[in-house]
Amino acid sequence: MTAGFVRVALDHPLPVLYDYRYPASAPAPQPGMLVRVPFGRRDVVGLVCEVDSHSDVPADKLRDVSAVCAACPPLSGQWLELAAFAADYYQRGLGEVALPGLPQALRDPSRWNRLLAPEERYRLLPAGREALPEALPARAQALRRLAEALAETGELDLADAKALHPKAAPTLESWREAGWVEYERVEFGAGPVAAKCAGAETVQGPTLSDEQAAAVDAIQAARSFAPFLLHGVTGSGKTEVYLRALAALLEREPDAQALVLVPEINLTPQFEAAFRTRFAATLADDAIVTLHSGLAEGERARNWLAAHTGRARIVLGTRLAVLASLPRLAMLVVDEEHDPAYKQQEGLRYSARDLAVWRAKQLGVPVVLGSATPSLESWWQAEQGRYTRLTLSRRAIADAVLPAIRLIDLEEERRRGRASFEGLSGPLVAAMKARLERGEQSLVFLNRRGYAPVLSCDACGWVAGCPRCSAYVVLHKPERALRCHHCGWESRIPRSCPDCGNVDIAPMGRGTQRIEEALASAVPGARVLRIDADSTRRKGSAQALFSDVHAGDVDILVGTQMIAKGHDFQRVSLVGVINADNALFSHDFRASERLFSQLMQVSGRAGRAGLPGEVLVQTRYPRHALYHALARHDYVGFANTQLTERRDAHLPPFVYQALLRAEGRTLEAALEFLSQAAHALTAIPASERVTVYDAVPLTIVKVMNVHRAQLLVESQSRAALQATLRAWQPALRALRGVLRWNVEVDPLDI
Ligand code: ADP
Ligand code: ZN
Ligand code: ZN
Repeated sequence: MTAGFVRVALDHPLPVLYDYRYPASAPAPQPGMLVRVPFGRRDVVGLVCEVDSHSDVPADKLRDVSAVCAACPPLSGQWLELAAFAADYYQRGLGEVALPGLPQALRDPSRWNRLLAPEERYRLLPAGREALPEALPARAQALRRLAEALAETGELDLADAKALHPKAAPTLESWREAGWVEYERVEFGAGPVAAKCAGAETVQGPTLSDEQAAAVDAIQAARSFAPFLLHGVTGSGKTEVYLRALAALLEREPDAQALVLVPEINLTPQFEAAFRTRFAATLADDAIVTLHSGLAEGERARNWLAAHTGRARIVLGTRLAVLASLPRLAMLVVDEEHDPAYKQQEGLRYSARDLAVWRAKQLGVPVVLGSATPSLESWWQAEQGRYTRLTLSRRAIADAVLPAIRLIDLEEERRRGRASFEGLSGPLVAAMKARLERGEQSLVFLNRRGYAPVLSCDACGWVAGCPRCSAYVVLHKPERALRCHHCGWESRIPRSCPDCGNVDIAPMGRGTQRIEEALASAVPGARVLRIDADSTRRKGSAQALFSDVHAGDVDILVGTQMIAKGHDFQRVSLVGVINADNALFSHDFRASERLFSQLMQVSGRAGRAGLPGEVLVQTRYPRHALYHALARHDYVGFANTQLTERRDAHLPPFVYQALLRAEGRTLEAALEFLSQAAHALTAIPASERVTVYDAVPLTIVKVMNVHRAQLLVESQSRAALQATLRAWQPALRALRGVLRWNVEVDPLDI
């Protein structure tokens, strides 16, 4: 006898739910629960979306649910709505959003028991701290490890203890009887932890500036959906505003949850430390959790579950955290909201910032978007009065002023025959030497990693290219390799030109490695450190390198945008910008917006703690309007000019766009697919209000031997575009001839 049916979302490209039967004896599944179900010849994890007493699927086709994950509280209706919205808006199946949104470990039923088990923990008592080290026999290595692990953080999970010592359980019990430790058992999902005990001192934080105070007041007064654009110059103390607004929220509603998003994993430790310090007295340690892709799977699942059960009050994470289940979410913060890293570039191509705003609206709560250089999309919302603008116009720390920005005209330098050093102009080198003498730090920014972007032969014009991509390969000197930044292909550096045998093949252009090398001889005695994707490949190494900078073990820091964002460097008083000009003439209409915000961000690293800061920008186009706005720190002027240009040119945010991308074995196949897709659009009524452009190859047309092309569609009506895209899907699925295709809504790179 069967008791009922469930409709389950599976991680599968079709936008349908799958029916399964569940037996009467089993605990009845509820919407939002995870289940294990047979699919084809495998068992997979699915999410129950509906429970019903009947199914239209013929009985002989129906299969049974294999297991229900009853220990995990169901995902809320609001979370399911979020997943459904994201699926609909970004043109994917519900399961393609909901399941990848869960931590990987939860999607593995063999780990359910362990993850959802009650937590058993031992906590070290003062008597134990005193007695334990002496009480243990000198040779008892495993016992010592146990005691050390306990002493390190003051507490130890039973499961972790068992991994350290096979007889951990009876040992810890005997220690408990001796009064050395206490035992605690927390049922899984036992709900919010109490505020932290007495003893911990409340951390006050600095006296707020008037502007900060006004911003905090506005945010904490909000009792319904309220989007705020916190426009604060670099170093103006935006973090302090978030902290105070969160503190006010938690004081008012001790059970409330908040989500704080940062654009990069590397920024989480700095934020986490600030949050832990500030809330040490009011929140238990496990009430603040992080969520990002750098966490081990088990930890990520535990943190996700802490958010899901309400134990975690503050969730700090990168873009993926926007999909966390937060049943009592009462406030959202998106720091550096303009950052392109909030856009996921594969799978579900969502904007975490946009979803954060949607969640705030769904729940009727405030959301704070913070930036020194807001995206033009958000700026335009504020201009229209849809977002409330909060402005921090000055740096927070007394004496800290925005750095002086100077342009170094490279043409002029050359004309006057002034010395330069491997791409480092005379004035920049002199300025770095002066910093070195004063014991201050310099930062050199250029957005290109590797040694040189091109290796070429003067004699015959040969250029080292990737055999799989339509791209040059980058010379990496430390590894003595040529490496393709698009597909990872690698080869040794040839001794001579493979075409003509000339041995004088030379690197052209400069990357971070080459500048690092040049700095060592241009500024003798300086300790130079490079931070980019290559120097931080090993897990944890970025953190270690940033610590060296903070500790003052570095005189000159050279790196890519990794060093530009968010970091609060105290002793950096000079920033040098090299090779920024390329972006001025990009075909991408967002290139200048991106360049401007990058340069504002990196300039913002100088002079944060009261040392007078200076920024030197090397350029061939010192009269370019972008550099002029930069030199005046004039974001508002820049943004308004850009918006006027965008309006005149009918570009976002004045129109809405989507891209259809196709990947084929040949470019012809990709283009043919797109032209058929364009033809299919004409049959869709809503497409009358949609403009369809010609299919074009991507700039890097071939990657990994796959040819790529795209088709842009746009409309002044978001609704018309959405309706068109939805109606387009079945037609696209029916087309053949390419390896892959995808639709991206609100694309950032065109
Ligand atoms: P932003 O994120 O706006 O670039 P931060 O939040 O990193 O700036 O703050 C810059 C520095 O100013 C930090 O060292 C911070 O501790 C300090 N700060 C913030 N608010 C105040 C204040 N009201 N008084 C003194 N220092 C402050
Ligand atoms: Zn040659
Ligand atoms: Zn390649």
